[in-house]
Amino acid sequence: MLNIEFFQNIKSELSEKGCKLIAVSKTKPIEDIYEAFSYGQIDFGENYVQELCEKEKSIQDKINWHFIGHLQSNKVKMIAPFIHLIHGVDSFKLLEQINKQAAACERIIQCLLQVHIANEETKFGFDAKEIQELLDSGKIQSLKNISVNGFMGMASFTTNEKTIHTEFSSLKSIFDGSQSYNESNVQLKELSMGMSSDYKIALLYGSTMVRVGSALFGERLYVKKENL
Ligand SMILES: *Cc1c(COP(=O)(O)O)cnc(C)c1O
Repeated sequence: MLNIEFFQNIKSELSEKGCKLIAVSKTKPIEDIYEAFSYGQIDFGENYVQELCEKEKSIQDKINWHFIGHLQSNKVKMIAPFIHLIHGVDSFKLLEQINKQAAACERIIQCLLQVHIANEETKFGFDAKEIQELLDSGKIQSLKNISVNGFMGMASFTTNEKTIHTEFSSLKSIFDGSQSYNESNVQLKELSMGMSSDYKIALLYGSTMVRVGSALFGERLYVKKENL
């Protein structure tokens, strides 16, 4: 169920900063999506391919679907026809696959490169050096059916706020340091960072998209492991 008061508060907080809310509806029923939609929310984030495809099929409304999970190359095909933005692209191989499937659908798919900023080993993504090498290589320019719009990052899962500040700040510097890359399909405008527990910190470092789930829809009751 949507927490309407939180929704309205975060919407006004974000609009002051020019930041977009991605409502993370993973594991939540489509009724929750309809409810948020009725309040004007059109951007929703999911991180399991199969669940996303089922929801996309059963909802007729014009929703912007964001894929925020770890995407496997062999599943790109399933979301290519409709996906609005893929947040967590963490390899060149995956970019190539997205490009191929986008071409097959005659679409241009928007992507964000995931940057590894957390301490934990388990978080996917490029590190600062790999991002720079990829952008320097010019290899993305030939992928005409994708558009790289910015970066995405996840802070460590910790209650130590100082760590979170350091991590978001490092992503912001990588982002700022990459602004000279400007190609027809590489325009780094978006910085997707911040979740329920840390979006306020992310806003201090220039987040343009926060991905908020549990604070909006309540705690998730189960975790699907299939795609992790
Ligand atoms: C689940 C998830 C979120 C939302 O997390 P909450 O803590 O529920 O706000 C954000 N980003 C990613 C990548 C996620 O998997």
